[in-house]
Amino acid sequence: MNKLKLFLNKRIGFMCLLVFFLWLKTVIAYYAEFSLGLNDPLQHLILIINPIATTVILLSIALYINKPIISYIVMGVIYLVENILLYANILYYREFSDFISFNTIAGASKVTKGLGGSSASLMQAHDFIYFLDFVILVILFTSHFIKIDKIKIRKLTAVAVSVLGIFLFSFNLMIAETNRPQLLGRQFDNSYIVKYLGFNAFLGYDALKSAQNNQVRSTAVGTDMDNILDYVNQDYASPNAKYYGKAKGKNIIIIHLESFQQFLIGMKVNDQEVTPFLNSLYNDKNTMSFDNFFHEVGSGRTSDAENMMETSLFGLPEGSLFSKLGTDNTFQAAPAILKQKQNYTSAVFHGNVGTFWNRDNVYKNMGYDYFFDSHYFNQNDDSSIGYGMKDKLMLSESVKYLEQLQQPFYTKFITVTNHTPYDLGDEDQSIDFTKPDTGTSVVDNYFVTAHYLDSALKEFFQYLKDSGIYDNSMIVLYGDHYGLNATQDKVVAPMLGYDPNNNDFNEVQMQRVPFMIHMKGLKGGINHTYGGEIDALPTILHLAGVNTKNYVQLGTDLLSRKHNDIVAFRNKEFVTTNYTVIRGEDGGHTVYDNHTGEQINLNENAQLSKTVDKWQDEVNQRLKISDTINNKNLLRFYTPTGFTPVDPSEYSYQNEIQKLVKTRNSLGLKSTSVYSKNNNKSTTPMYNTDAPELNGDRTYIDSWSSVVKDDMQTP
Ligand code: MN
Repeated sequence: MNKLKLFLNKRIGFMCLLVFFLWLKTVIAYYAEFSLGLNDPLQHLILIINPIATTVILLSIALYINKPIISYIVMGVIYLVENILLYANILYYREFSDFISFNTIAGASKVTKGLGGSSASLMQAHDFIYFLDFVILVILFTSHFIKIDKIKIRKLTAVAVSVLGIFLFSFNLMIAETNRPQLLGRQFDNSYIVKYLGFNAFLGYDALKSAQNNQVRSTAVGTDMDNILDYVNQDYASPNAKYYGKAKGKNIIIIHLESFQQFLIGMKVNDQEVTPFLNSLYNDKNTMSFDNFFHEVGSGRTSDAENMMETSLFGLPEGSLFSKLGTDNTFQAAPAILKQKQNYTSAVFHGNVGTFWNRDNVYKNMGYDYFFDSHYFNQNDDSSIGYGMKDKLMLSESVKYLEQLQQPFYTKFITVTNHTPYDLGDEDQSIDFTKPDTGTSVVDNYFVTAHYLDSALKEFFQYLKDSGIYDNSMIVLYGDHYGLNATQDKVVAPMLGYDPNNNDFNEVQMQRVPFMIHMKGLKGGINHTYGGEIDALPTILHLAGVNTKNYVQLGTDLLSRKHNDIVAFRNKEFVTTNYTVIRGEDGGHTVYDNHTGEQINLNENAQLSKTVDKWQDEVNQRLKISDTINNKNLLRFYTPTGFTPVDPSEYSYQNEIQKLVKTRNSLGLKSTSVYSKNNNKSTTPMYNTDAPELNGDRTYIDSWSSVVKDDMQTP
């Protein structure tokens, strides 16, 4: 005891006590307050050590101050600020399921409503444990157990402590990067940075990011839009009268097929169709199917795909636009346009946490009315795999919310099971499907999870038909990006009859993803038009009867005669109706004939060489315009006629069930939801799934009360 007392009466000893208290409280909070998605023992270890390094660095500042009393006060203030940050994060997380960012503190963010009046209601009885250390410290000081250490600290000692902190942080960062490569580069999710590096690092990193963004934006002026508007005007493709407004007033159901490449459609392995249901849909006379539709994502992958589909602007050259700019940028996205033009209600269904890819913030800026993330589904050990809920469970547990949405609705279902590494437990694998034996297990398993997704969609479609939703809906399916990487594509190429010696060409061809528009009465067929994700929004809006002339969209309607069929990839390579253009190692172009796969010698074809250069300029220009709009946040300067900018503070993804019920009750007989139209009877009994995890228990399909208990409290 005496030894301890002696130690604590040294300045460094006292600092250690503060580090210990803050560490303990942070770890308690990590486990008790936040859902950080801990998957393996190493992640637990990283989580447990991550509060130490930055706390040591910060508190060591006080060691450089000679005057004892001042040194203790500075240490105390830093400690207090750290505690406020921790507790504020706890409260903030209870309200927003996210972490306090730099902009939240600076009050600059449009999303910030602050904790203000609601913070008291967010406090819980057990929170006293987060203040116990202050009680203990007061007792220790008033009882003179701890006294202020009057002995000067040598500068060298102070430096040593700071260096120790920096060393600890580097170590922390290193093991974090081994567990999650590109942790900072790709910025998947705020909770990842907290999980791996702690609150201080998250805030510091976020501040740096905001400062960079703000610097770029501060140089922007309204006239920056002038050239862009000229370009968009020139590139505008007027709608095809045959299709314009064909889906007017219909529900729009978007189905995001995770990592789904076009080659899966129609493919057989071991004489079995991989995706029998999607094949039937692809060939259905009511489906407009595109077989030359390419994904155009960069390293923001899924989020880039979503961004293009919703806004017809590209993702960024590096990183994810959702994560980097999505919290603050002005969006003119599908949900807001459809709401304002045709009174659509919008919702996203996704079985991962809302913070992933910063969706919870981006969707507010896009004007999504509802976002049903993993909190709205039954979560247990069996229900999730990899990146979230298994598709059969997510889809079947979605319809109890779907049927409450006012019609027409614009909804997006983001599947996840078909995601690398394509692990699916035996119980979820169809006994009728035998996977191929390519010698690469990831490739073999890709077909298994794709088959599972197909089966999940078949169940979902059956429900749509049985409930009558189908008759009144346009259903759009798209693959977000490649599922197999270049090496794995090489394994599949021979199965598709590709020349195994033509890998560079094959690799581009395999960036095709499905794009299908299915609607009863739509004159369908296989459409060979070349296009990509950037073109989806104008196509969909024209079908819905929305004029896109005044919007800043960089894609063009795939059904328009004026459609721009140069498909730009994020790396500036591109594909046209006849040619595939990639960049050779010398920086020059390598051009292939799409139909024969043969490389064309540009030296012998001056005319084509010139045309390729012209196309390249056009691709570069389009990507550059997109980057300028996004990085400078230029849409804040331009509001299309008849459009009202979205105010994200009007959106919240808390207590959504209360919101659904409130809306239903206030509309009374005017409610247009599927539930109301069905004489206030649920349609969920029409959903049939063979998902083995349910064991025949329909509780989570039929009843929401068992899922979101907080949300069920009377409004
Ligand atoms: Mn994806």
